[in-house]
Amino acid sequence: MDHFNAANEIQDLQYFGEFGGVNPSISDSSTYTFLSAKTMFDTFEGNADGCYLYSRHSSPMNLYLSQALAKMENTETANVTASGMGAITSVLMQICKSGDHIISSRTIYGGTYAFLKNFLPPLNIDTTFLDIIDFESIENAIQPNTKIIYCESVSNPLLEVADLRKLSSICKKHKLKLIVDNTFSPLSISPSLLGADIVIHSLTKFINGSSDTVGGVYCGTQEFVNDTKNVNNGACMLLGPTMDSFRSASILKNLRTLHIRMKQHSHNAMYLAERFENDGLKVSYPGLPSHKNHELMKSMMQKEYGFGGLLTVDAGTTEKANELMEMMQHENLGYLAVSLGFYKTLFSCSGSSTSSEIPEDEREEMGISDGLIRFSIGLDHDIERTYKKMKECMFKTGVLHHETIYTS
Ligand code: PLP
Repeated sequence: MDHFNAANEIQDLQYFGEFGGVNPSISDSSTYTFLSAKTMFDTFEGNADGCYLYSRHSSPMNLYLSQALAKMENTETANVTASGMGAITSVLMQICKSGDHIISSRTIYGGTYAFLKNFLPPLNIDTTFLDIIDFESIENAIQPNTKIIYCESVSNPLLEVADLRKLSSICKKHKLKLIVDNTFSPLSISPSLLGADIVIHSLTKFINGSSDTVGGVYCGTQEFVNDTKNVNNGACMLLGPTMDSFRSASILKNLRTLHIRMKQHSHNAMYLAERFENDGLKVSYPGLPSHKNHELMKSMMQKEYGFGGLLTVDAGTTEKANELMEMMQHENLGYLAVSLGFYKTLFSCSGSSTSSEIPEDEREEMGISDGLIRFSIGLDHDIERTYKKMKECMFKTGVLHHETIYTS
């Protein structure tokens, strides 16, 4: 793992425009001409490498972006989609058919949870949700029809870290596919090196980083990606979550600065997490030695990109959390908004937003408390200044009391 660096892989990949442009040219077409009818037929059959047919299937710019992301994730290939959910649903529906079974971490993004919990059962695909570090329960839950273990490398919103090496060994033993959503830890964790079969991202977040579009990708073997694009039974080809070429062009350009941004997100998040914890707040951040998966994350990550830009703070109650978020927004410290990976800090109360699809009793069991604020820390130049202003807001809203501070 030491010799692999995802940022170098991306950097080594060069594309030029057709007139020598330093960026590749955007192909502004939904359909492509053929000089011979035979080649068109071969392309339909999937046998004409380098030929484009129809942009729902593939397009030059989508292939460029897919290739760059495959390099980043150290997989044979990849396929970009119109959203992260477009990638997740295509992968799951490609692998699982009626009668199949999935084992999933119970702490995952609310939309994925809702898809597994509500959308798939009427199609006769059931999911068992488990604590992803309870390996005994995971092995016990495996049935002859189990096809997948699904998890997030760093989970949304609780920032639990999955032991990908261990999960991969369970998958290999039982011939299951390990599918990992790596949205929270691009560059820092490379799931394929730890045994994941398919790696998914919501490009909407850190990878694009400018909160101007949704997008997704799944990275895996050429065979799997070809299957998803098969004109007769490919989930992605037939469900049609296709990214537009203009969007893939802009995401590819933003990908070029991901390594710089991730370092700054991580640096700022670490700074705030340490200070907030010192102030007596209930903080969760994988970079803190107090985080239950701190050592595990250290053993899986590429250190230079840090522990990521996400942290949570428990404000006690929803009311206090809301008051604090509104005040921080008023003070221009960030935006009360869902999503993550933006230059500006974003905060939201997970229980009433991105995890609201999860029923209240289950949220409680998982540890998503009512006052839990998820922060996606921005690229602030002077994080000490930000910290001081945030602390002021915390005092004013009563989230922090003067007597809770034991170190200044
Ligand atoms: N995976 C994770 C971890 C997410 O946080 C999200 C969205 O918040 C998604 C997947 C879904 O991505 P998208 O909104 O791009 O469909």
